[in-house]
Amino acid sequence: MRPGLIKEIIKGIFVKPVTIQYPKEQTLIEPDFRGRQYADLKKCIGCSLCAVECPANAITMTKIPDEYVAPKTNARRIYPVVDYFRCVFCYRCVTVCPVNAYLVTNEYRLASSTIVESSELSLSTTTKAAGGV
Ligand code: SF4
Ligand code: SF4
Repeated sequence: MRPGLIKEIIKGIFVKPVTIQYPKEQTLIEPDFRGRQYADLKKCIGCSLCAVECPANAITMTKIPDEYVAPKTNARRIYPVVDYFRCVFCYRCVTVCPVNAYLVTNEYRLASSTIVESSELSLSTTTKAAGGV
């Protein structure tokens, strides 16, 4: 047996494992990690530039439902919905937006049975019009 091997084996028994027991333990991530992003509908002017520029074709311009308030600057009442299954998190959409409408997060846990796109998050940035349900 290689000299020192037994010593190494015994040492290994007491060393804390390098693997993280996810999800019990959370992975440390940089604050500027590119996580889930979505448009703030109080700012978005519906110009579609982010959708045009997206290299992954992950953005669909979508009608803002009638019951939600849209700013006057968004005359067509449309907003970008990001498909997180297609998105490669390059943040091209964030940088090209002329009005800095994207809200960025470092959220990386995207596995979900419900939220796989950004509509719910974006709609939560605006309010419902009076009389809206
Ligand atoms: S981060 Fe990149 S891939 Fe994702 S929606 Fe924006 S432009 Fe498209
Ligand atoms: S580029 Fe900005 S303003 Fe234009 S549609 Fe996208 S989020 Fe809205």
